Amino acid sequence: MVKNLTEQEKFMREAIAEAQQAAVLNEVPIGAVVVKDGQVIGRGHNMREHFQDVTYHAEMLAIMEACERLHSWRLEDCDLYVTLEPCIMCSGAIINARIANVYYGAPDPKAGAVDSLYHLLTDTRLNHQVNVTSGVLQEKCSQMLKNFFRAIRQRKKAARKKRRAKG
Ligand SMILES: [Zn+2]
Repeated sequence: MVKNLTEQEKFMREAIAEAQQAAVLNEVPIGAVVVKDGQVIGRGHNMREHFQDVTYHAEMLAIMEACERLHSWRLEDCDLYVTLEPCIMCSGAIINARIANVYYGAPDPKAGAVDSLYHLLTDTRLNHQVNVTSGVLQEKCSQMLKNFFRAIRQRKKAARKKRRAKG
């Protein structure tokens, strides 16, 4: 069952809190939570740089924790909230885990596999389809990413200036 607005926002705020933890570690701020029966049972934020591991996306970590918690790879009655539209890899994990509902914040035109580039979660050729709700607290989710990348650009610019001043 698709959740009401306040519940969607409540759990998206949990995903946003995860994303903010990633930003503190200089990781691209993406966060995710897995929810079952109104409880968060898995959390994750992007840790790709820290571990130099391509599978350490927020969704993957949240799903792994949820599976561990339930002692099951089946997350049939679970929902996933993530601040950015899932990629191909994470969409694959969502389908394989049989997650019921996915709520995401900002679209990802360059890598999104839910609406932007592909429609993996609703592809009827696969044995599981997911209910998708997009644009949950979208403004907040995309602003976090914009701020993060702007700060990186500013740091790079400052470093260039410093080098030039030295040379
Ligand atoms: Zn991903």
